Amino acid sequence: MLDLPTFDDVCAAAQRLDQHAHRTPVMTSRTIDAELGAQVFFKCENFQRMGAFKFRGAYNALCRFSARQRRAGVVTFSSGNHAQAIALSASLLGMPATIVMPQDAPAAKVAATRGYGGQVVLYDRYRDDREQIGLELAHRHGLTLIPPYDHADVIAGQGTAARELMQEVGPLDAVFACVGGGGLLAGTALAARALAPACKIYGVEPQAGNDGQQSFRSGTIVHTETPQTIADGAQTQHLGQYTFAIIRRDVDDILTVSDEQLVDGMRFFFSRMKMVVEPTGCLGFAAARSMGSALQGQRVGVLVSGGNVDMQRFCALVSA
Ligand SMILES: *Cc1c(COP(=O)(O)O)cnc(C)c1O
Repeated sequence: MLDLPTFDDVCAAAQRLDQHAHRTPVMTSRTIDAELGAQVFFKCENFQRMGAFKFRGAYNALCRFSARQRRAGVVTFSSGNHAQAIALSASLLGMPATIVMPQDAPAAKVAATRGYGGQVVLYDRYRDDREQIGLELAHRHGLTLIPPYDHADVIAGQGTAARELMQEVGPLDAVFACVGGGGLLAGTALAARALAPACKIYGVEPQAGNDGQQSFRSGTIVHTETPQTIADGAQTQHLGQYTFAIIRRDVDDILTVSDEQLVDGMRFFFSRMKMVVEPTGCLGFAAARSMGSALQGQRVGVLVSGGNVDMQRFCALVSA
């Protein structure tokens, strides 16, 4: 039996994050409210430290290390926002961090991770198994492995974003969260079930990689090939054991959107709300928008998960 995190763990995480994570703004748009006939509240994690909600889960997990674990440090494998979240959290807590990244990861991401003080170990995406490398490093040097989503403390940390949102604006009728490995959605579900029991909870995936939807509907974890989508933060191949157990129990449905809808979302955030949001960060909004009149009269929460997209890529996507 898995020892699943609960809403109490989300509250404990919120205490650890207090004064360390940003309490990100909740933004609204009259234009979108008029379009949907609803009241939409955007929780803007693109303004979180290191540019995504991942700081919440990483910092919470590292806070729970024993003195011995802190001395030896943390290891993780990620080419994306989790790498930067772990590197930044470790440096704030004064512990060493080792990040296993693919050789062909964007130079900017490797540089950002090193900039936060992380020691980067590169691997060959086509030859090596990153999880194996992470486990070996953990074993050889006594490091603690913190995976990007399938970990109780990571899930509890991610849940603090939806908790803040509902504390600030009150109960919601529906909430939309992106799904990669399901850490954000599982945490959101823990918070929403406790604070707004009637709230519909929706996960949103890229159409090209709907393994979460297939898993949710079939009742077992479905694995896929790495999906071809601009939503690079949701290119995971499967949900985790912990995330799936919570999602199955608490979530109402998992929806999908196309890359085109994500680009429309990026354009909307930029032109109407003056925000730079990365493609993955638009999943929740794109799904809410495509529901149209089904949300009429409702109070709707949308988690905007991150804003890490470099300028050239942003411009290429929105001007295409
Ligand atoms: C990691 C990430 C996601 C997906 O989160 P999971 O917890 O893996 O489901 C979505 N958006 C952004 C910006 C991310 O960094």
